[in-house]
Amino acid sequence: MKDKSVFCGNKNLEQKYVQYIYKHDSKFMIVNDVPSKVCAFCGEQYFEGKDLENIEKLFFDIINNRKQVNKKIEVPVFDFEVC
Ligand SMILES: [Zn+2]
Repeated sequence: MKDKSVFCGNKNLEQKYVQYIYKHDSKFMIVNDVPSKVCAFCGEQYFEGKDLENIEKLFFDIINNRKQVNKKIEVPVFDFEVC
């Protein structure tokens, strides 16, 4: 994992567990408590490649019915309108 923020150059990255949103076409999957290094300055999150591969694998296991989903949520969708 990185030891420096690519966005802002800050070297102060904190180990945190964050919510990761995986998106593929128009399907979304939320994974909680993913280990991440978060830049203390700009908030950019960095993940291990193997963790992202596992998340992708989990997504395809779910859409191919090889794995059960823990929980499903409903998400409102809007097209942006200028008010
Ligand atoms: Zn940063």
